[in-house]
Amino acid sequence: MLFPTNDIALLHLHETYFTEKRVGVAVLRLDMIHPVVSGNKLFKLNYFLKEASQNKYEGILTFGGAYSNHLVATAYACKTVGLKSIGIVRGEAPENYSHTLIDCEHYGMQLHFISRKDYGLIDDSAYLEALQKKHPTYLFIPEGGYHPLGANGAADIMSLIDNETTHVCCAIGTATTFSGLLAGLKKNQQLIGVPVLKGLIDIKERINYLLADHSSNYYIADHYHFGGYAKKNDSLIMFMNDFYRKHQVPTDFIYTAKMMFGISDMIKQNYFNPGDKIVCIHTGGLQGNQSLPAGALVF
Ligand SMILES: *Cc1c(COP(=O)(O)O)cnc(C)c1O
Repeated sequence: MLFPTNDIALLHLHETYFTEKRVGVAVLRLDMIHPVVSGNKLFKLNYFLKEASQNKYEGILTFGGAYSNHLVATAYACKTVGLKSIGIVRGEAPENYSHTLIDCEHYGMQLHFISRKDYGLIDDSAYLEALQKKHPTYLFIPEGGYHPLGANGAADIMSLIDNETTHVCCAIGTATTFSGLLAGLKKNQQLIGVPVLKGLIDIKERINYLLADHSSNYYIADHYHFGGYAKKNDSLIMFMNDFYRKHQVPTDFIYTAKMMFGISDMIKQNYFNPGDKIVCIHTGGLQGNQSLPAGALVF
């Protein structure tokens, strides 16, 4: 593993309405693995890194936007294990780099900017083959680690969750983390996913691509995306500040705040039964918050 998993805390939360509804709520703090790099991204990368090292690749090449948590995580992970990294970035090179891109370079990633039009071709096999010819010593990882090997890596998160847990919850972007968790789910457990994009209607197809066979004991809480990817409103920001004041757990408005908001709301709406033990996966990655106006957050 790239990082010590015994440092990952399971934090039990205390709220009056959890007690009233008689549910236990804990947060699995993957955000504590690293201050910048999203914990779930490192899990998703684990088996790709193994494959690259075993097969003597020189480095890893992957794809993402200028704010991609996956790009930074790849840069960081490659540096940690002594591999080179190339990031193919969507859009022309900006005059001022985002924090994400600065971090990528800091971890030694070579950035190649391509037009949005060309970026649209990265799912095209001819385009990928040409790119692979240009970088024959690099292992390619799809954007967001969206690949069965990425889901395999995320499945290892389940080894941190005990059998008493009745519900495991996470935010959904590409659904790779969600699928990995589903792979490791026990019979008595249900997985709840909170999509952070609007109209993510192909989750079933995604799971089928990522996992050979799997439990269907999951629920998609599809109404907590706040209008779409990286969309937010005052009530979400207020929730983040309240959550931090009460629990000293920072969340980000793109992923983990929407998940925690959703689960909190579902508890209030009596989705859960008395005695249920809920574990919410804090996937990490707070740098999205840097795009908020100064002073919006209390942390
Ligand atoms: C990328 C990311 C996710 C989404 O993970 P997927 O595997 O793409 O669904 C969730 N939370 C954080 C903090 C992330 O950076």
